[in-house]
Amino acid sequence: MDNHSDFMRMAIEMADENIRNGGGPFGAVVVKDGKVVGKGANQVTNHNDPTAHAEVLAIRAASRELNTFNLSNCVLYTSCEPCPMCLGAIYWARIPHVYYGNNREDAASIGFDDDFIYRELSMPMANRSILMQPLLSEEALNTFRAWSDKSDKIDY
Ligand SMILES: [Zn+2]
Repeated sequence: MDNHSDFMRMAIEMADENIRNGGGPFGAVVVKDGKVVGKGANQVTNHNDPTAHAEVLAIRAASRELNTFNLSNCVLYTSCEPCPMCLGAIYWARIPHVYYGNNREDAASIGFDDDFIYRELSMPMANRSILMQPLLSEEALNTFRAWSDKSDKIDY
């Protein structure tokens, strides 16, 4: 199977099946060289895990399968445009290409307001709905100095 629509259809079918299994309506697959290396369907309510989005689970599965934290040679197919958390995970995994089915407005229309988070991200920190305050910055900086000085670290 090497057709983009086939991989997207797989992600959509996983989302459909996940609804029947009590999960959210989202599925994702990670593909490398025309082969599925990771799959995920939303498990937020099943696992009581707010981070168990389809894309995150698919990325974790692909990283385990390929034994690497760098998925720069992979493509992600997701049944819905990634939320900001998943988009962040995609950036961290270095996945360079994403296909999505539904978009964020479609998600918002059925009660998944990713767009709210996207709007928050574009605001100055002081205007966001989450209160964020710096604390013990000098002490925390020592940790970064230790990392910076470490000669045998694995960069990522
Ligand atoms: Zn997400």
